[in-house]
Amino acid sequence: MEPLAPFRVLAPASIAEAVAAAAAHQGARFLAGGTDLLVNLRHGIGAPGVLIDLRSIPELRRLGPDRGIGAAVTLAEIAAAPPMLAAYPALIAAAASVAGPAHRAAGTLGGNLCLDTRCIFYNRGEWWRSATAFCLKHRGETCHVAPTGHRCHAAFSGDLAPALLAYDAEMRIAGPDGLRTEPLSALYAEDGAAHLRLGPGEFLAGVILPPDPWPAAYAKARTRGAIDFPLAGVAVALRTEAGSVAGLRVALTGTNARPFLLAGTEALLGTPVDAAWRDRLGRLVQKQVSPMRTTLAAAHYRRRVAAALAGRVAAQLAEAA
Ligand SMILES: Cc1cc2nc3c(=O)[nH]c(=O)nc-3n(C[C@H](O)[C@H](O)[C@H](O)COP(=O)(O)OP(=O)(O)OC[C@H]3O[C@@H](n4cnc5c(N)ncnc54)[C@H](O)[C@@H]3O)c2cc1C
Ligand code: SF4
Repeated sequence: MEPLAPFRVLAPASIAEAVAAAAAHQGARFLAGGTDLLVNLRHGIGAPGVLIDLRSIPELRRLGPDRGIGAAVTLAEIAAAPPMLAAYPALIAAAASVAGPAHRAAGTLGGNLCLDTRCIFYNRGEWWRSATAFCLKHRGETCHVAPTGHRCHAAFSGDLAPALLAYDAEMRIAGPDGLRTEPLSALYAEDGAAHLRLGPGEFLAGVILPPDPWPAAYAKARTRGAIDFPLAGVAVALRTEAGSVAGLRVALTGTNARPFLLAGTEALLGTPVDAAWRDRLGRLVQKQVSPMRTTLAAAHYRRRVAAALAGRVAAQLAEAA
């Protein structure tokens, strides 16, 4: 760990003040719980002169009204299963599975959704990375994971995104052009070095959950059961009619540079969840995930465990229905 470079922390009192602060301070970074950002800064990844603390904005700390969750609501508040979230157990489970209690007390919804991507060649101290001439994602020219390519494959490893994608949640983006609402999936791009589609000065103000959510659940595989990022995390939302699958959304994290919704799930509608159905779902997952050598666990393990988790979670939901 490096000593932190000096920075100023601004505490805007409103969304408008945060937007103005970002416009006035080029290169400023948004700060929430700091459980990801400050670790990266201590690793010498970036040295912003100004941090804009979004937790000082009361509007962003609100749960509700109308199924809205402010970006600065903590993971512990979500994991505590407040009545407003009773119909969204996958989100509660995902929040409860993030890191340890101290991280959840500080870490926020917005920080989790905007988490930096991760790689064993990147989440290292400055001296370690300098010994490998850095890498494409920060200060270097080569990707050590795929040296012949020109793209970073660092994995998005946040737990909340798949649950929210499976629920078909929307996000609220604040920025110089005001507030806009879009599907959460529009936040992400498949590029480990630029995985967030946020314009200059834009930040996540919160998410909006849909009314009448489908039954859903979240599961993750991790190296240390008590506290760890997902090697693969899968959220499934599944609706049944007369014993057959009538609606299915599957979202994944930890395997790609972005969390994403599995495509082609409509081919799995109209039949019950049995062993053959689980095999078909598993094959669909294995085709679309693209884990690379960015974790100590083997990429092929992450591919297979993602498929196994998807089948297991879907079977549990079907059985409960
Ligand atoms: C030991 C350890 C274990 C961890 N395990 C997990 C895990 O299992 N699962 C997991 O998901 N995470 C894990 N984390 C990462 C982190 O603790 C959580 O993801 C947490 O939710 C991050 O939220 P934060 O508020 O602390 O984000 P911050 O660190 O404050 O910010 C993270 C990033 O998001 C940006 N940002 C923050 N808020 C916004 C916003 N509203 N709009 C735009 N950009 C924003 C920041 O600029 C920064 O780039 C772990 C971290 C550690 C240190
Ligand atoms: S995938 Fe490649 S470019 Fe991206 S962080 Fe890892 S080594 Fe660097």
